[in-house]
Amino acid sequence: MSRVVVAGGAGFLGSHMCDHLIARGDTVICLDDLSTGSRENVAHLMGCDRFSLVVTDISARVELESGDPVDAVCNLASPASPPAYLERPLETLAVGSEGTRRLLELAHEHGARFLMASTSEIYGDPLVHPQVESYRGNVDPTGPRSVYDEAKRFAESLTMAHHRAHGVNVGIARIFNTYGPRLSPGDGRVVSNFISQSLRGEPLTVYGDGSQTRSLCYVDDEIAGLVALMDSTLTGPVNIGNPDERTVLELAHLIVEVCGSRSPITFEPLPTDDPTRRCPDITLATTELGWSPKVELREGLARTMEYLAPRVMAA
Ligand code: UDP
Repeated sequence: MSRVVVAGGAGFLGSHMCDHLIARGDTVICLDDLSTGSRENVAHLMGCDRFSLVVTDISARVELESGDPVDAVCNLASPASPPAYLERPLETLAVGSEGTRRLLELAHEHGARFLMASTSEIYGDPLVHPQVESYRGNVDPTGPRSVYDEAKRFAESLTMAHHRAHGVNVGIARIFNTYGPRLSPGDGRVVSNFISQSLRGEPLTVYGDGSQTRSLCYVDDEIAGLVALMDSTLTGPVNIGNPDERTVLELAHLIVEVCGSRSPITFEPLPTDDPTRRCPDITLATTELGWSPKVELREGLARTMEYLAPRVMAA
C-alpha cells in the first residue's frame, strides 16, 4: 500500500490511474486544476477515505494538506488533445515546465518514485518508423504544436536532470494515442470526434486524405503499462502504446461500422504539422516490464461508444 500523488488525476488518463491505484489499496492525492479534467471523472471516488481531490494549478503551487510520506508522484497533468493545448498554449508550456519542476521537487523531498507521462509527440513527424526510444524526433520548435511537444521534451530533460543531479528515482513513459471511456464528446481527438459524429448521424470529419496513421491503445492497457513502469525501477524513456497501426480513414470506416451508423465521411484540411505516421516499437516495455496491450481495437471502440452514447444524446 502506497501513498501516491496523481497530478492531472481528474483528467482522462489520470482518473483511470486513480481508479487503478484505489482498487489495489493505495491512498491517492489527486491534484487537478479542472481545466480539461472534470469532477465527474472522479465523482465515484469522492466517498473513499483513501482518495482526496485538491483543486490546484501545479504550475503555480504544489502543497499537500498533510506532511505524511509520499511514495510516488505521477505527472499526468497537461492538456493532451490538440484543440485543448492549442487553446491554452502558455498554460501547456507552464505545466510541462514549472508544473513538472514542482512535482520533481516534491518527489525529491519525499524520496518518492517519479513517473513522467511524456508522449509520442516528442518524435514529432517521425523519420524513423516504427518509433524506437533512441529516435530523437523531428519537431518544429516554433510550430503551433510545439507548445505541447517542446513542453514534454523539456519535461523529459528536467526529469533526467533531477535524476542525475539529485538521484531522484524517475521513470519516463512515452504515451501513444490512447482512447476509452471518459474521453469527453467535445474533446476534439479523433476517436471521440468520430464516435460522436457517428452517433449523431453527422459526417465524420477526416482531416487531409486520411492516409496519416495512428496506433491506438485502449485506456486500461495504457494504465497497466504506466503502473508497471511506476512499480519498477526502470528509468526509460519507454514507449507505452499499442502497435496496431491504422490509417485515419480506416479508423473512420471502422467506427461507422462499430456504431452501426450511416454517417458519410467528409474531408477537411489537415492541421499544421499533423504527423504523417505514428507507431510505437514496444520491445523495451515488453522485455523490461513484461507489459503488452491486450484489448483489440474493435472491442475498445465498442466500450468507448457505450460510454459516449448517453453523453452525446444528452448534449
Ligand atoms: N483527425 C481527423 N478528424 C478529427 C480529429 C482528428 O482526421 O475529427 C486526425 C488528425 O488530423 C490526426 C489523427 O486524426 O491525424 C489523430 O488526431 P488526434 O487529435 O486524436 O491526436 P494527435 O495524434 O494528432 O495528437
